[in-house]
Amino acid sequence: MPRILITNDDGISAPGIHALEASLARIGDVYTVAPLYEQSAASRRITLRKPFRYEMHGKNRYAVDGTPADCGMMALTLLLDFKPDLVVSGINNGPNLGENVYYSGTVAGAAEGAKYGIPAIAMSVNQRVDIDYGPAADFAMKIALRTLEHGLPAGIALNVNVPHPSYHGVAITHQSGRLSRNLMIETQDPYGRPYYWMHEEIPVHDAEPGSDYAAVRDGKVSITPLRFDHTAHDLIESLRGFEE
Ligand code: MN
Repeated sequence: MPRILITNDDGISAPGIHALEASLARIGDVYTVAPLYEQSAASRRITLRKPFRYEMHGKNRYAVDGTPADCGMMALTLLLDFKPDLVVSGINNGPNLGENVYYSGTVAGAAEGAKYGIPAIAMSVNQRVDIDYGPAADFAMKIALRTLEHGLPAGIALNVNVPHPSYHGVAITHQSGRLSRNLMIETQDPYGRPYYWMHEEIPVHDAEPGSDYAAVRDGKVSITPLRFDHTAHDLIESLRGFEE
């Protein structure tokens, strides 16, 4: 049986991780190392200025009082005495599309797997309330099987977003370049002082063809291959003049 490491950013008690565990347990031995508390939008933050611990939450289930990146590092350097065949992060409550990919703790969990050269998948569902995780969990099993069979190039993770409540078809996409987090909602506290809530405008109508947003808008599962080496390799030669 393949050995699969599961993590997320919604926390070890989130319904999405339970759905993912149940689904992937049908195809492999599942090990969960996930944050004790919700870490959405933690990106790849790691805990350096304070100690952190893990506690057991069932057989092969570790809850870490840290971020998704902490979980990945702790799993792959301490908790697991083997290198898993696959890392799957999620299933996130809410989509991770466009610029949200940069801030996502779900993607960060997969990124840690990719960093260690393990095929990795980030799973999210395009819904935030009254979620039926069934279709996304089922898709997670299918894409996990395919990834286990075919592998992925080292350093690559797949960012998967599943429409809700159902989907028709699958699209390989690029990360949208549309900016969505343009809204600072101002409200007032009981003392009359303003406070702010960051929100987003989903680029439904002007999403670029072939982008992640366009696929999910059109009811398709979006699969974006992500690379975490941010080097602009195509610019290295043209910038040689800076060396002089
Ligand atoms: Mn989340």
